[in-house]
Formats: sequence, structure tokens, C-alpha cells
Amino acid sequence: MIGARVLLVALASLGLDSAPAVVTITGVNGEARIPVRTDGSGAPVFAAPALMSALEGSQQVSDGWAEVKVGPRSFRFLLGAPLYTLDNRLQPLAAPATVSHDTLFLPFQFVAELLPSYLSERYRYDRRRARLIDSGASSRAPVARAPASSKEAARLSNGLRSGHMVTVDPGHGGVDPGNPGVFFPRGTREKEVTLAVGLLLRDELKRQGVGVEMTRTSDTLIALGDRGAFCTQACDLFVSLHVNSLARRRGYTDIRGFETYFLAEAKTEDAARVARMENEAVRFETGTAPAETGVGIDFILKDLQLNEHLRESARAADLVQRSLKTVHSGESRGVKQAGFMVLTTARRPAILVELGYSTNPQDGQFLTTRSSQKAMAAAIADAIVAYLLEYERKTSQTQSSGVRQ
Ligand SMILES: [Zn+2]
Repeated sequence: MIGARVLLVALASLGLDSAPAVVTITGVNGEARIPVRTDGSGAPVFAAPALMSALEGSQQVSDGWAEVKVGPRSFRFLLGAPLYTLDNRLQPLAAPATVSHDTLFLPFQFVAELLPSYLSERYRYDRRRARLIDSGASSRAPVARAPASSKEAARLSNGLRSGHMVTVDPGHGGVDPGNPGVFFPRGTREKEVTLAVGLLLRDELKRQGVGVEMTRTSDTLIALGDRGAFCTQACDLFVSLHVNSLARRRGYTDIRGFETYFLAEAKTEDAARVARMENEAVRFETGTAPAETGVGIDFILKDLQLNEHLRESARAADLVQRSLKTVHSGESRGVKQAGFMVLTTARRPAILVELGYSTNPQDGQFLTTRSSQKAMAAAIADAIVAYLLEYERKTSQTQSSGVRQ
């Protein structure tokens, strides 16, 4: 168990050494120079009043939250914790928003990443020149693209560069059946559903030009601690597939729908329950010392990549959840965070999809119908391709602006 304070300090100290002393905001009405300050833990921040006047936005602080509006977007920052919500989804930050002497301070990341990604039609951030370029709310003219360099890798028809690798992890297997599947056809358990969808996902990703490594392709048990190891240097994303279930209690068969998790300490009772359930598979494994199964978040936090991976994982989870919503007959239960062991051991961005509830009759049927398995696999594959495209754009921007990684 690790306290929120430790988490906060660890996150705040990562990857922020490149912040400039001043950021220039260039808009249709001229330029504004906004100094970058440092908060109590040394993280770069902006004083919100100066920033909001340059952005023609607004800010309001109440009940431990700061609401910041820019154009059509409304960001809500949890004061003192590296988290914000946008469209009711909780997302991690490199450093928290804080209030000091009645002034709201917003993290540097808000200008360098959040505005350019969520208001991309309006803002672009040039890291090398420390400039936020505001093209004006009404301007939708496409930005002229530089001609592709001859060194650039060949692009596939969907716009992706070739050479991506995704690890697909169908949950459970072998002597570990996963959840028994109350409303699955007789003899079908979670492990069969995750494998069926996993193989379809592999086929769809390959069809779209993405390389795939499977943690399993047959009914075998892979130790939880070993699954993440499939996704190391050459892997872009780790995707674990599972089916949810609830313990027998009043009304438990009414709950249905899908949710996507990324790594964090369990934040809610429900997330803790799902993490316990999926981590339970350890008991099927032999020869795993108990001490080794407790790979904790404190250990992972030492990895300097964690912060970036958390953000990437949150983004991938968000895209998968949105895409599944277009094909799933159950409700979207949202993007959540939990301490899945299978995610803590992956060394790259990692997500876990709970495809539905086997304890609900409609989900039970949906999950075991071939056509809906295919639809789910295609939806997840589309989201992964969208994530990789976005990631490519981000990294090529960074490279072209001369920032070394
Ligand atoms: Zn499972």
C-alpha cells in the first residue's frame, strides 16, 4: 500500500526538466508572454489568472476542484492531486493543480499537452520555441503538412507506419477457467470467451497492418506475473481481455455492460473487487513464491516511464471504451483504474477490458455470440489503430521540434 502523497511526489518529479521559463501564447490578437513558475514540489506551473486572460478562458475554484473553461471545453482539476476530469472521465496528470495565496496554479502540461490534444483544431504547442499557437476558434483551415521525408517508414493504407506491435492477452486459461459464466451456454467459461475474442482481435489487428503477439493461443495457463513480460521494448500496447461477474446477491443479474481499466491503485470498492477477482488467478499457479506475486505499485513507481505510460494507458482505455460503445448492447460503465497485477508487470502502456458480465443474461448471450465477438474485436482493433495513429503524431511532432526524448 502506498499513500497518495508518495504517489504525488513521485509523479511530480518525473519528466518535467524541459519546461521553459516563459511560454508565449500567439493568437489572432497578438502575443502574451506567460511566466512558468514552480510549485512547492518543483513542478512547472502557470498562474491561472494570466493564463486565462491570454486564452480568453475562465476559472472557478470550489469544493476542492478548479473548473477551467477554454472554448467549448471544461477541465476540472482535483486540487492537490495529479488528476483531472474531462467529460466526466478521470485522467492522470504529471503534477497537480494547486491554490496558493488565493491564486490558482495550473500544471505546465495543461498548455503543452491538454489544450493541443483536446482543442487540436485551435491550439498547437511548439516545444522548441515554447509557444502555444492559437489559430483562432473559427479557423478550421488545415495546417499545411511538411512533405514526408524519404527516411520516413512506409505508411499503410490506414495511415499507420508499419512495425507496430501489440500484445493481446486473453485472460485465464488451462486449469484457471476464469469466472464460470452463469449465463453462458453450458460448458463455456470466461477463458473460452477471452480466447475467442483475443484471436479475432489478433486477426483484425493483423488485417490492419499491426503486429500482434499473443500471451496464449490455446487453452493453457500463463502465470499472471509472466503475461506482462510479453510486452517490453518492442511492444506498443498491452491489452488484456476479461469477462466480469458478480457474486450472488439481490439483483446481481441486472448489472451488465463493459468497462476498460488502466493501472492505478484501486480507487473504488468496485475497482478493488474486480482487481481482487482478476488477481485471484495467482492461486492456480504453482512455483510462484508469494513474495514475487506482490509486485507493488511502489516498485513500479521507480520506473521513470510510469508517468508517461499512465497517460498513454488512460488514453488507450478511453479510445477502446468509446469504440466498444458503438457495438456493445450493454451500457458503457466507463474507464476505471485498478491495481491489476497483469498491468503492473507490463513495461509499456497497458489496459484491461472487461467485455461484459457473464452474470447477466443479455451480456451472457452477447459475449458468446460469434457475430458480437467479431464486432467487439473490430471495435477494439479500431481503437488501437486510432491510439497508435495519435501516438505517432505526437512523437513525430516532438521529434520535428527538436526535443530529445
Ligand atoms: Zn478475468
